[in-house]
Amino acid sequence: MAPVALTPVSPPSPTLDSTSKLTKAGTDTLLAQTISNDSRAVADLDASKLTITPNLNPKPVPALTSPEVWTQNVTTDHMLTVRWTLQSGWDAPEIQPYGPLSIMPTASVLHYATECFEGMKAYRGHDGKVRLFRPERNAKRFLQSATRIALPGFPPSEFLKLLKKFVGVEARKWISEPGQFIYIRPTMIATAPALGVQKPKEALMYIMMVMFPPLDEPNPSNTAPAPSSGLAASGTQTNGDSTAKDRASRGMRLLASRHDMIRAWPGGFGNAKVGANYGPSLLAQGEARERGYDQILWLFGDECFVTEAGGMNFFVLLKNQNTGRRELITAPLGDGVILEGVTRASVLDLVRDSRPEVDIVERRFTMQELLEANEEGRLIEAFGAGTAFFISPVADIHFRGMDVVLPLGKAEGHGEFAMAVKKDLKDIMYGALSHEWGVVIDEVEI
Ligand SMILES: *Cc1c(COP(=O)(O)O)cnc(C)c1O
Repeated sequence: MAPVALTPVSPPSPTLDSTSKLTKAGTDTLLAQTISNDSRAVADLDASKLTITPNLNPKPVPALTSPEVWTQNVTTDHMLTVRWTLQSGWDAPEIQPYGPLSIMPTASVLHYATECFEGMKAYRGHDGKVRLFRPERNAKRFLQSATRIALPGFPPSEFLKLLKKFVGVEARKWISEPGQFIYIRPTMIATAPALGVQKPKEALMYIMMVMFPPLDEPNPSNTAPAPSSGLAASGTQTNGDSTAKDRASRGMRLLASRHDMIRAWPGGFGNAKVGANYGPSLLAQGEARERGYDQILWLFGDECFVTEAGGMNFFVLLKNQNTGRRELITAPLGDGVILEGVTRASVLDLVRDSRPEVDIVERRFTMQELLEANEEGRLIEAFGAGTAFFISPVADIHFRGMDVVLPLGKAEGHGEFAMAVKKDLKDIMYGALSHEWGVVIDEVEI
C-alpha cells in the first residue's frame, strides 16, 4: 500500500474552521448521528444482555502498601468484554475471568494505533457506599475518542450501565475499606485482522480494574537517592535541608518539553484519549524521570504556550498584573490541543461556584508569562489535575536552562489553594459531601 503524500501543515490557528468535525459543534453532530443511528439492522450496545461468568480461581488482595501495588499490574478477578463487528454490531456483553486476549498479529490496533481508553476510579466512601465521579463525562468522552479513530459508536448510557454493573461486582472484594479506591480502565481496540489501512470492521470494548497506589502522595517504598541533576545542575538555589523525598512529598517537579517534541497540535488528536498520544511521549517522559522530574510539561509553538503536564491538565494561580486579583489560568479547549479532563472541568466548576474571589481564565498562556509572574512575585501556585494523579501541586518547572521554583518548592507554602480544591473534590468522591457528581453504585454478589 502506497503511503499517502503528506501536505505541508499550515501555521496553527487558535480556532478551527466551523465546518470542521473537530469543533465542539462538529463532534456533537457526529455523536448525535452515532447515537440516533438505530435504523441499522445491526445490534446496538445493550447492557440488558450482560452475562456473568464468575472467576473460580480468585486471587488474594495484596496489602495497599505492598510493592506489588506500585507495579500497577494488580488487576481484579474479572474483566468486562463486548465484541463488535460491522456485520452484526455489538454482541452480548460478558463479565468473565480476567485473562489474556487473543487477537491476530494483523489486528488493526497493533499496526495503526486504533485504540482509545478512559481512566476513572471507584471510591469506597466513609459511609460505606461505592461511588463513581461524574462517570457520564467519561462515557461521552469514550465515545468521542472512539469516533475520532473510526472505532464503532455506542450509546454512552448503555456503556455506563455496564460499567456500573462491573464495579458493583468487584467493589466488595477489591475496595473493601472506606477511603479505598480502584482505577478503572475502559478500553476499545480494533481487532479486525487485515493490514489494509481502512476503517476497522471488528472491535473489542473491554473494561478492567487495576489497584493503584495513591499517586498524589509520596511512594513509601521509594528509597531512590536524591536527584542531583535538574535543579542543582542548573545552579538554582535549593534549601539546604531539602531532600528528594521531602521535595516529592511537597510537590511535583516538571520538565518543560523541548522545542522539537510536540504532544499535540491544532487539528490533531490531542483532545482524544487515544493510545497514539502516549507512545511518542514516553521518550521525553523517560528523560524527565532520569533527570529527577516527575512529568513533562508540554509546550506548544514558538511562543511556548503551556498546554498540559503528562496525563494531567495544568493550572496556574497568579495575581493579575493590573487588577491585583487572583486568577486561575488553564489552557483553553477550542483548538483541540489539550484533553478535556473531568478533573479539569470539576476544578473550574468548583472554583466558579465557591470562590468568587478567584477569576477563572481559560486562555492560551506562555512560559514567558509564567517566568515573568514568578520574577515579579505574582505566581502563587501551579498544579496538575487528572484522575490518576488527582490534584498535584507543582514545586518547580525547568524550562530550557531556567527554573521556576514555586513558593511550594521554596517551602514557603503548601499549595493551599490546590489542597483546598482537592479536599472539596475528595469530599464528594468519598461521600462526606452529598453531591450529584458522586454517583452511588449498587453492589452485587455473584
Ligand atoms: C486523561 C488525561 C487527562 C486527565 O483527564 P481526567 O478526566 O481528569 O482524568 C489530562 N490530559 C491527558 C493528556 C489525559 O490523557
